[in-house]
Amino acid sequence: MERWSPPVELSRQEQALMKRLTRVRALFGFLRLHRHELFDETFQEQLEGMYRTTGAGEPPHPPALMCMVTLLQGYVGASDAEAVELAVVDLRWQMVLGCLGADTPPFSQGALQAFRERMVAHEMDRVLLERTVALVRSGAMTEGERRAVSKALRVAIDSRPLAGAGRVEDTINLLGHAARSIVRVVSKITERPPEEICRKAGIPLLLAPSIKAGLDLDWSDPKQKAAAIQILERQVSSLQQWVDRHLDDVVEQPLRTYLDAVTQVRDQDLETAEDGTVRIRQGVAPDRRVSIEDAEMRHGRKSRSKRFDGYKEHIARDLDLPVIVACAVTPANRPEEEGAAPIAEDVQRQRLRLVELHIDRAYVNSPVVDDVIRAGGQVFSKPWGQRARSPDLFSKRDFKIDLRAKTITCPAGQVEVFEPGDTVEFDPEECGACPLRAKCTQAASGRGRTVSIAEDEALQGKFRKLQQTGPGRAVLRQRTAVEHALAHIAARKGHSARYIGARRNLFDLRRAAAIQNLEAAQRLIQEAA
Ligand code: SF4
Repeated sequence: MERWSPPVELSRQEQALMKRLTRVRALFGFLRLHRHELFDETFQEQLEGMYRTTGAGEPPHPPALMCMVTLLQGYVGASDAEAVELAVVDLRWQMVLGCLGADTPPFSQGALQAFRERMVAHEMDRVLLERTVALVRSGAMTEGERRAVSKALRVAIDSRPLAGAGRVEDTINLLGHAARSIVRVVSKITERPPEEICRKAGIPLLLAPSIKAGLDLDWSDPKQKAAAIQILERQVSSLQQWVDRHLDDVVEQPLRTYLDAVTQVRDQDLETAEDGTVRIRQGVAPDRRVSIEDAEMRHGRKSRSKRFDGYKEHIARDLDLPVIVACAVTPANRPEEEGAAPIAEDVQRQRLRLVELHIDRAYVNSPVVDDVIRAGGQVFSKPWGQRARSPDLFSKRDFKIDLRAKTITCPAGQVEVFEPGDTVEFDPEECGACPLRAKCTQAASGRGRTVSIAEDEALQGKFRKLQQTGPGRAVLRQRTAVEHALAHIAARKGHSARYIGARRNLFDLRRAAAIQNLEAAQRLIQEAA
């Protein structure tokens, strides 16, 4: 297998080009100067290992060269087709790829796509990110140097919403979309026109330009709407049965994907009434599929009122060096805390030790928090609010909580015992006779004041104390570094997913983080010079 070994020394033409790369797109110059360090022998061996382990044929291009192409592609935001063109017409691309003057591209569009898939399958996007982390940590000339050597990591984690690349559709269009895809694939397999498949399979609705045009109903009439879902469900079932009868022995990808999508949409969105009619289910299924093209994207919330459809991108930013050490992508409906565990695993793989974890409140329930504390590390977060239902009532702050004795004492001196996670109700009789009742509770007569004790009340107490002092608030503000890093990621990749599925979008996030790290390495070297 050919190893990528472009020259280290700059040619005269490269020296002239480097003089122009000081302000605009300066990373091209950095990559040209440091490509041999980024793709050292060890990393090139790892990349070549992607081919050895599968037993697949020899790669047509050196893997390190292709990896550099994926970086350049992420840096300028080029599509696969554009990347091929840029490798011929852009001298900066040619210089970094070591093919100055070439009049044919050093790789094809198909090779680039296949290489990306291979990187994903072999976790090489993670290794690339780790390589850039190591590059920054080893070259750091700042106060972070000491920590880089000690492997003790102070890190902040945060996330941002990413709109999915698949089209979000209602139940009728989801079923229609999946059915149309089935017909398209069956038409290809059987080499028969789609119209013939629709007629034979008993789904004439698909002969219309759209499902709703085929149904041609007054959608404001609930009865007609209810009839529509029954007609569609009947015809989609007929198509499924036809496929089962005629293609049972060749049902494989991608046909299987669409057949499964029909089953999933039917299970999550439809129900059979007592009279046997099929209708749309009331309420939203907990893990509802929202798109046929992207099976993993989900409905999520930015806040109580703002919704989005897609994923959450999580990153962990080193607080001593300007470097993103690990990333994760989760469907938008999953709680934030689920992003912390894969990040902690990736940190561990780099043989770094989490000694400080700065997080948003939404991550507090992650098992990573307990792991860090158990290992002697520290966790910092803003505490949950303690506001009362009404500003005129006592808040939780007015109650004395003794975590050791597991008791809570109200402003009138009434004491109750609790276990973490309990909602404590004070004795209704004492509350009923209490002179402070009007300032304490609006509970119905015969009920006492209630106070919720969090599972992690002790940790919340520590966070509250931090928030009450100037130095404590300064510690909490350190988390803003990860917010800035996320803002840079958003500026680099935009707010919409480039790829379908969580794993490919994780590849894109890791690549963006790697580029950000390389820019940081460049800044550190310039500052040290
Ligand atoms: S109303 Fe009940 S909980 Fe509130 S101060 Fe009086 S006794 Fe305590």
